[in-house]
Amino acid sequence: MSKSNYRGRFAPTPSGLLHAGSLATALASWLDAKAARGIWLIRIEDIDLPRVVTGADQAILQQLALFGMTSDEPVVFQSQRQNSYKEQLEKLHLQGLTYPCNCSRKEITHHIQRQNGSNLPTQGLIYPGTCRTITPWIDPSELNHCRLAIRVRLPRDDQHQLLRQTVGDFVVRRADQIISYQLAVVTDDAQQGITHVVRGADLLDNVARQVWLQQVLHLPVVNYLHIPLVLSPQSEKLSKQTMAPAIWPPNPLATLQFLYSAASHLGIQIPNRNIQTVPEWLQSAILAWPDRQPPCAITF
Ligand code: GLU
Repeated sequence: MSKSNYRGRFAPTPSGLLHAGSLATALASWLDAKAARGIWLIRIEDIDLPRVVTGADQAILQQLALFGMTSDEPVVFQSQRQNSYKEQLEKLHLQGLTYPCNCSRKEITHHIQRQNGSNLPTQGLIYPGTCRTITPWIDPSELNHCRLAIRVRLPRDDQHQLLRQTVGDFVVRRADQIISYQLAVVTDDAQQGITHVVRGADLLDNVARQVWLQQVLHLPVVNYLHIPLVLSPQSEKLSKQTMAPAIWPPNPLATLQFLYSAASHLGIQIPNRNIQTVPEWLQSAILAWPDRQPPCAITF
């Protein structure tokens, strides 16, 4: 039974199975919720179908369950929430905050090179706003059929100036009509009443975009905690691309060992007593969590 208003979530993309890095993230978000006597939810972020690996969603749920982590409410699948995303997109559009864009990546690169005398900015491609004034207004009823990407129009001169300079007008719906991660996440976090997001530091630079969307859509702003990533021996982020192995502990002892490694990454000291089962281990970890934040935790 929840004793607080805390609602947290773990939101894996089923593009591969859980590896040591995603286990540490799941554990941090679970512990933060449980230490606050809150609710913890799992949301499967399967909106980007081309990235989804068939069966990975169910496998991830099984992996989490092996480590004692199950959703306190039915698991939500982004692929089933298209109507909510379309509603939020329309809200942005009706405020005049979106415009269609038909620039390819190549065209954006050329445009920036022309502006900067062939140098590309080190922080990546910041969309220069080429289509801001040239693409015509689309009627809201046609928004869903529009075959162009839809970008947001960031304000020029207010507290969001940094966002405009460092990210640029970003895409909220892709040309293949898939809603962007940014818009889907703020829609889901709001509809699921999420108050706290604990996730990997690789997502830190998304926060400003998400807070901006929460503000213009009049959604509650969430508390964010970003935990350090687990790196490979080559100091690369563990991921499918870096061939991070999926974790399938062969026996209960191995399960506990995976949990101990994840806890050590998070900087939690589990008191040294004879722990035999996953639920016992998790109870000790909850007690170890409250006065503890991950090393170098980056809060926003
Ligand atoms: N689906 C994202 C991932 O697997 C996490 C998104 C989030 O926590 O906001 O990296």
